Amino acid sequence: MGSAIILGAGIMGLSTAWALARAGWSVAVVEQDAVPNPRGSSVDDHRLIRHAYGAAAGYMRMIDPAYAAWDLLFAEGGERPYVQTGVLALAHAPGGWLAESRAALRGDGHAVTDLAAADIPARYPFLSGDGIADAFHLPSGGVLLARRIVQLLAARLAARGVPIRRGQAVAVDPARGALRLADGTRLEADLLVVAAGPWGPRLLPALAARVRPTRQIIVRLAPPPAHAEAWARAPMLLDLAEDGGFYAVPPVAGTPLKIGDHRFAPHGDPEEAREATAAEAEEILAYARHRIRGLADYRVLSASACYYDVEPQERFVVERLGDRGFVMSGFSGHGFKFGALLGLALARAAGDEHLGAAISAWAAGEAPPPPGLFADLQQETTA
Ligand SMILES: Cc1cc2nc3c(=O)[nH]c(=O)nc-3n(C[C@H](O)[C@H](O)[C@H](O)COP(=O)(O)OP(=O)(O)OC[C@H]3O[C@@H](n4cnc5c(N)ncnc54)[C@H](O)[C@@H]3O)c2cc1C
Repeated sequence: MGSAIILGAGIMGLSTAWALARAGWSVAVVEQDAVPNPRGSSVDDHRLIRHAYGAAAGYMRMIDPAYAAWDLLFAEGGERPYVQTGVLALAHAPGGWLAESRAALRGDGHAVTDLAAADIPARYPFLSGDGIADAFHLPSGGVLLARRIVQLLAARLAARGVPIRRGQAVAVDPARGALRLADGTRLEADLLVVAAGPWGPRLLPALAARVRPTRQIIVRLAPPPAHAEAWARAPMLLDLAEDGGFYAVPPVAGTPLKIGDHRFAPHGDPEEAREATAAEAEEILAYARHRIRGLADYRVLSASACYYDVEPQERFVVERLGDRGFVMSGFSGHGFKFGALLGLALARAAGDEHLGAAISAWAAGEAPPPPGLFADLQQETTA
């Protein structure tokens, strides 16, 4: 195996560095900020993982391998920063994402329990059943404790002697596997992986035509004492309305209750401040007010912005770049859960011309995995 430079120490860059180092590559990571990076897309208390994926069966079928990849990392790191919660999905109208998810899940043999509107407050007294036309519960799925996972990966890299170099790349040359830092240093390797999150389009002009940064707002809440325990045992909540609705992450493992939405902002610059305005926070709270009973009694702990790189169809861009490069981008609002899996897949594809070409359609959710992509994963998890 040769040498590799990974640009970006978010979940994608760190996972890929970890997987390449395990495969015997000599790896170095370049990151402009501290690790974990609170300005990156990957660093927050939680990120959700779930099989429910609407009609996107390709991504639904990536979930089991994604769990296997996390298991591999967690076993190596000696901790398991994951809490299973299950999924509660609600819709204000029949059909749509919820019905597509149910059909795809049942088609693949997942146990989905249909619920009536009246079941919702009966099971979850802190929620209202108003305006629910369709609902289901799925026992699988849960919360990946994102910051802890990023820390765990950084520790694994340190243990393997992989340096994380602080520096800002100002130019990349994937044909030569090279990049130039702001201080003028030129770094070169056999392989360059650009995993720059929402900054990616700045570095790669061709990417800017396909992927753009978006500003997403999240609000952290403390439930009133009467509901705190029930919330801590609650499933993740996906509440789909005509205006898009909202999601809620239960306050597991000492984290706050978090709510957010899935609308993409029309523009976003990842250099902007991460503080959310009062109006931005209120917009998110307004989406949740009809569903979370007595929301006025919940204490707002904080509200902030996070940027991610959105691809119009939310398809991941994992593609060859020049003769010696790969780009990992377009992870939109759903990439974290696949971090370890995509890292392992890229490490496998980097040393194999056929897999290097075939990985893109799979990562875009459009094709089954090319044969051999998970060979390492299958060997290790069945060993
Ligand atoms: C509010 C929110 C909720 C989300 N919810 C979920 C969820 O529930 N489930 C899920 O699976 N996903 C979710 N996501 C999406 C997921 O977090 C992202 O897809 C994922 O974290 C992207 O990781 P990344 O490594 O590509 O980017 P990042 O974490 O942003 O990492 C890129 C790194 O590259 C560095 N960098 C960039 N440019 C340079 C440069 N020129 N020189 C040096 N370093 C550079 C940056 O500093 C950064 O640290 C959510 C995202 C947000 C914002």
